[in-house]
Amino acid sequence: MLELKDVSCSYDQLRVLKDISFSLKENEIVCIIGPNGCGKTTLLKAIAGLLPYTGSIKFHGSEIQDLKRKDLAKGIAFMSQISEMYFEYSIYETVMLGRYLHGKKGLLPAVGKEDEKIVERVLRDVELWQEKDKPITQLSGGQLQRVFLARTFAQEPKLILLDEPTNHLDLKYQLELMQRLEKWSKEKGHAVLGVFHDLNLAMQFAERIILLDQGEIALEGETQRVLQDQTLTKVFGVDVLNYMQGSLNKWVSSKERA
Ligand code: ADP
Repeated sequence: MLELKDVSCSYDQLRVLKDISFSLKENEIVCIIGPNGCGKTTLLKAIAGLLPYTGSIKFHGSEIQDLKRKDLAKGIAFMSQISEMYFEYSIYETVMLGRYLHGKKGLLPAVGKEDEKIVERVLRDVELWQEKDKPITQLSGGQLQRVFLARTFAQEPKLILLDEPTNHLDLKYQLELMQRLEKWSKEKGHAVLGVFHDLNLAMQFAERIILLDQGEIALEGETQRVLQDQTLTKVFGVDVLNYMQGSLNKWVSSKERA
């Protein structure tokens, strides 16, 4: 569904992504990892149509840069850090924002019966229907995470780009988010491309891993193979597997608590 060929991106004179090529199929969860500043978020933003690029990024055969914003939003949703919104919107209103991207005219078009049905369905899916009128400012981190996930689902995209929150959300919430995304990714025509900071999270959910180093793909392949490759240790500058063993214990205990 997604194909990148020789994609490069620059901020002013600084070339941040260099000749990136890979593709993504339906029902895959692919994960991008790499040290801070290697270009992970830039890559997601380019795919989301938020940054100019050279080379080619095709989504179902259409070049991202040529698609209208609204058409792109019907195919690709970008789910980034959850602290982006702190207005006094209710849960329901926040999730409805995902539908506005489908609107036929203007920024805030009238909401139709179909939109209401979709918002109800996704709110029930994430178990927030009963609380739909609560302002989002009163929610816990885990509930807020589910609201933003519901908003993303309400957009009815085919591809979700996930920039994993770095703000130390409880591991339990991260796990829950990934489990919901995993279920979603198995439905027809869906796929997830995510940036993960925690390698254990990547290991548990991704079928394939792309390792970025200074804007280039250093390694790409099946999760198990990438995680055992020495390149990983070289790129991160630490003994990754050893480090992971330590952080894996955190996961195991948080899974037991969940
Ligand atoms: P990562 O997500 O892997 O941490 P980013 O994609 O955020 O990396 O950033 C890659 C590089 O681009 C870094 O050197 C960063 O400082 C730089 N960069 C990111 N955003 C901007 C920007 N808006 N303007 C200029 N440089 C930027």
